[in-house]
Amino acid sequence: ALVCFMSIHKNEDLQMIFAKQAKLSTGWASNVRVTHADGRITDIAPNQTPDAHDTCVDTLLPALANLHSHSFQRAMAGMTEYRMAGKDSFWTWRDLMYRFTANLTPEHIEAIAAFVFLEMQEAGYASVGEFHYLHHQAGGTPYADLGELSGRIAAAAATTGIGLTHLPVLYTYGGAGQAPLQDGQARFGNSVDRFNDLVAKARDVVAHLPADCRVGIAPHSLRATSPDDLKAVLAAHTAGPVHIHIAEQPKEVADISAWLGARPVDWLLANAEVTINWSLIHATHMTADETLKMAKSGAVAGLCPVTEANLGDGPFNGPSYLEAGGAFGVGSDSNVLISLTEELRTLEYSQRLRDVARNVMVVGEGSVGDTIYTGAAKGGAQALGRGAGEIAVGELADIVAIDSAAPSMCALRQDQILDGLVFAAKDDVVTDVWSAGRHAVQSGRHVKRDDIVAAYKLAMQSLMASL
Ligand code: ZN
Repeated sequence: ALVCFMSIHKNEDLQMIFAKQAKLSTGWASNVRVTHADGRITDIAPNQTPDAHDTCVDTLLPALANLHSHSFQRAMAGMTEYRMAGKDSFWTWRDLMYRFTANLTPEHIEAIAAFVFLEMQEAGYASVGEFHYLHHQAGGTPYADLGELSGRIAAAAATTGIGLTHLPVLYTYGGAGQAPLQDGQARFGNSVDRFNDLVAKARDVVAHLPADCRVGIAPHSLRATSPDDLKAVLAAHTAGPVHIHIAEQPKEVADISAWLGARPVDWLLANAEVTINWSLIHATHMTADETLKMAKSGAVAGLCPVTEANLGDGPFNGPSYLEAGGAFGVGSDSNVLISLTEELRTLEYSQRLRDVARNVMVVGEGSVGDTIYTGAAKGGAQALGRGAGEIAVGELADIVAIDSAAPSMCALRQDQILDGLVFAAKDDVVTDVWSAGRHAVQSGRHVKRDDIVAAYKLAMQSLMASL
């Protein structure tokens, strides 16, 4: 009787998706049934006919991970595009960000994060790397529960069903050379010891989320830590993803070179054991030699093309990095705009504008859309420590369905679909998203859209009234 019960229970947990076509790890296939259970793909069968219990979709793709997000910054989108006479070009952004961070409550942070995660899922992302550096109360006093705000991010992940890789940030100094934190940075600050306590709290809250969710660490940048602190924190956390901002802007490269005697990427590769568990976020300003060495390290380049364009950071060394076999993924960073299609096409267009050439992000001959999409799927999953990035048995069911019959894509052959998605479509071709099997987006809408949007609007009213 027990065996019988267990087998019935297992059958109830099985979910079947039937797709007219699917991009599998082995290539395109038609009339595919994908079965998943407990968050993982358990069977893939091409050349089937749909069954009454199947969820029927048009085209299945591996869903991307959004590998780099500061969710609270979404609330500032559109507020920092005004030039102030006599101020540097970063000033309006940084000034507003600090004023915002002083007024955000835990309730605001949770509501904003839930809305951001919803937007990511509706855009076709199944998972997120939340690079989380708001830890304390305004002024820098910790909450009664040191992990209060990590708990809010985890709650937003639970509400939306997104696959969360939570990355608490070590932020100790206000600038290169162990400069003290500035006023606006008080909510970010931790010593290594308190950071280790905070990571333990984060592990406790994330343990209540589904099993695909996890915790990594994020030393914010070389300028916000010190060589000794970095060494200590890496020794304390030897498993799981490690993310760090690096070489985003020329001033950072100059400051780090003056302090440590080497450019940021050179210094990091020489002084830390950078492996496939690492993601180097931005890695924009690298020499040819740094680009090659970083590619060989196996770390993921965490590219955030829309934010990098918005902040005027500059383009990534795409061709030489790809030529050397470097791994990459994409993230929405400041979340000024959350759009998978815009993110991917901005990556390629930044290369074209610099090189005055077409079809740059591909080695030799091939489809740019396929190279960028499938590369970002694998690299993003690697960055978040998720067994995902391909549709294959045993992988997490991080899957997106798009409508290839949409007007923007209806004339394309199967082998042109990813070019169409990356260059010709908008995110509204996304019909369904599964995050480790959780079917969060159906018919193009998040299943909890109304409640999450209402809570976000209330939070924004309250936040704007407090500024
Ligand atoms: Zn960032």
